[in-house]
Amino acid sequence: MKKEVTKIVLAGEGGQGIQTIAKVLSTALVSAGYFVSYIPQFGPEQRGTPSVSFIQFSKSEITYPKFDTADIVMVLRRRAINTIMSYIGANTQVLFDSSTIARQKFSINNSKIFAIPATKLAEEQFGNKNQNILALGVLAKNFLDYPENAMWEIISSQLGKKFAKNPDLAIKAKAAFDFAYNFQLETKKFSKPEYDTCEEIIVKKNSDRLAVIIPKYCKGCGICIEKCPVQALSFGKTLGVYGTPTPDIDIEKCITCGNCFRFCPDSAIKVSPTQK
Ligand code: SF4
Ligand code: SF4
Repeated sequence: MKKEVTKIVLAGEGGQGIQTIAKVLSTALVSAGYFVSYIPQFGPEQRGTPSVSFIQFSKSEITYPKFDTADIVMVLRRRAINTIMSYIGANTQVLFDSSTIARQKFSINNSKIFAIPATKLAEEQFGNKNQNILALGVLAKNFLDYPENAMWEIISSQLGKKFAKNPDLAIKAKAAFDFAYNFQLETKKFSKPEYDTCEEIIVKKNSDRLAVIIPKYCKGCGICIEKCPVQALSFGKTLGVYGTPTPDIDIEKCITCGNCFRFCPDSAIKVSPTQK
């Protein structure tokens, strides 16, 4: 935090928590005595559209909220890359989600490129809803040098209502934050992207039944997985509208009971017998 004005761009997909990250960071920086400018930008439909935040902070007043080149760029989803590329300069530090984006996307010389496989870690260890908490842990430690306990206090107060309603979410969020704060960022050797968005309808069938999954409708709530009586559904590697994994189906196990599509709140899955 040595520069006179530090400029940050955060980008992902609507619903992924980008604006939550921005609000927490802005609050934390104000608490640390900085002047802060924060401008959110997202499309008319929040779902699945790029969500971007522009933050500046300084020890003196910020006179103009717009800027051309950022000191720090964080991008969590491939669909948001085009929105942020012009803000990356030769000295910009770039943080990306290596489980959804390939390193080759950032072909700028001299950029300082760092990564955390946030989607993979969230899915496998901390729950889908904690991708943004993982990002906050990394930003606090590696990019802002912000004290761990002080940042967690601000996260807890900002997300207090959500945590009160869902104590399990709070426990997992704390674990995700502690993990990310102490995470050794990937630098030269990056993970291979395992997850990706899909604009197409996914169809799986055998001689008896046909399943249709629509990733762009799926919010990754997992209700269908919970309601399937034969464990034919599990989260796969395709990302849905909020950048969280969508269900995959083992069509041979399915008994066409209909629970998944009856309970899906977004009509994102349908299974039916094939016509004989
Ligand atoms: S139709 Fe029934 S058995 Fe088949 S995937 Fe859906 S919930 Fe599971
Ligand atoms: S219930 Fe619908 S929205 Fe929820 S994970 Fe299943 S397919 Fe996606």
